[in-house]
Amino acid sequence: MGIRLGCIADDFTGATDLANNLVRAGMRVVQLIDVPPAGAEQTVDADAVVIALKSRTVPAGDAVEASLRALTWLRSADAEQIYFKYCSTFDSTPAGNIGPVTEALMDALGTDFTIATPAFPDNGRTVFKGHLFVGDVLLSESGMRHHPLTPMTDSNLVTVLRAQTERAVGLIDHTVVAEGAEAIQSRIAALRAQGRGIAVVDAVSNDDLLRLAAAVRELPLVTAGSGLAIGLPANWGFTPSRAAAQLPPAGGHRAIVSGSVSVATNQQVLQFLRGGRPAFSVDPLRIAAGEDVVDQALVFAESHLADGPVLVYSTEAPEAVRTVQGRLGAAEAGALVERALARIAQGLVERGVRRLVVAGGETSGAVVQVLGIRGLRIGPQIDPGVPWCAAALPDGDTLHITLKSGNFGGPDFFTDAFALLDRETS
Ligand code: ADP
Repeated sequence: MGIRLGCIADDFTGATDLANNLVRAGMRVVQLIDVPPAGAEQTVDADAVVIALKSRTVPAGDAVEASLRALTWLRSADAEQIYFKYCSTFDSTPAGNIGPVTEALMDALGTDFTIATPAFPDNGRTVFKGHLFVGDVLLSESGMRHHPLTPMTDSNLVTVLRAQTERAVGLIDHTVVAEGAEAIQSRIAALRAQGRGIAVVDAVSNDDLLRLAAAVRELPLVTAGSGLAIGLPANWGFTPSRAAAQLPPAGGHRAIVSGSVSVATNQQVLQFLRGGRPAFSVDPLRIAAGEDVVDQALVFAESHLADGPVLVYSTEAPEAVRTVQGRLGAAEAGALVERALARIAQGLVERGVRRLVVAGGETSGAVVQVLGIRGLRIGPQIDPGVPWCAAALPDGDTLHITLKSGNFGGPDFFTDAFALLDRETS
């Protein structure tokens, strides 16, 4: 049997966020890193597949091309419905990429209508009268107005989307969504009759998303943040179950590699150090001075791996990071650290680590790449948005890994993560 839902996500951590929501709603989910080569589409054992692209801020033509390749793969896997996932702050510019990718997918699927909603109330993203709120403020008043690549200065998603697409954009507002799935479907029929191709949809609560999900079961394509995923699995009869998040048994040494410098990760590292646990600090200035920091970290880790998780971290408070960036340049410092941490992660796995926590979005990308990981089976959630995953290493062994982007997770995330894995897979 083919997969039910085929998802195309415009970045890596967004893909995990979506996959996590689908698992929690009862689907067994595999996340693929980029589009796999053709040939093995029918062998994926999952209810939903999420293909993680890096298409959010690349030129629109490249985003369209990658998304269409992903679509081709998902259709070969017999996906019954396609979900284009973007950021819950609708990160885009008048050049795209949400509009152009949506249109290209509609053309390829031969459909004249789809919906658009970044709403995710559990994360404080709500849409009302077509306007996106981030927490208590309009998108245009949130930090997103200063985003370096996709500054969002207009909160009205209908006008934002109009600037990016040839198709006529309409709105399904809250009064309709509140009435239920049938009312939404009638409104869709009316918008279609008026020649509208895309409708922004209001949602201020999970109930709104559940009603919307029920209403769009027949649409070949939906476009949304990760919020809509809480309701779609029910369209195929899935209900929340622990079985959906089942991973193979975990074993082997435990380690944490942290290259995130965000506030939450700083707390998590501090908390781990306070517990008196083994930790090795990677100093970018020592790497730049030519020291073999990778080897030093691995020698340290080797002597501690037998008695519990070992932390290797470059995480520092903002002032220390600024000092390093002032000396080396921000890009150079980042690249040095990412390369070193990726090689350390590789060395740890070679030394028998099979349970690995990685902190930092960019750091995660570098680690996944160096380990040759192509896909992740999504398991139980540790903290909101951060699940444990199981990955096949190139030699066939299973690695349990969790990829935590910067500001996610509570203060005890590192120890909580391993405790949860023990509970869930033993
Ligand atoms: P986050 O998800 O918290 O943003 P990322 O891994 O995406 O974490 O990004 C952190 C960036 O900071 C990476 O490029 C990393 O290499 C860099 N970095 C990590 N530690 C340091 C440090 N001590 N000094 C300078 N840059 C650092």
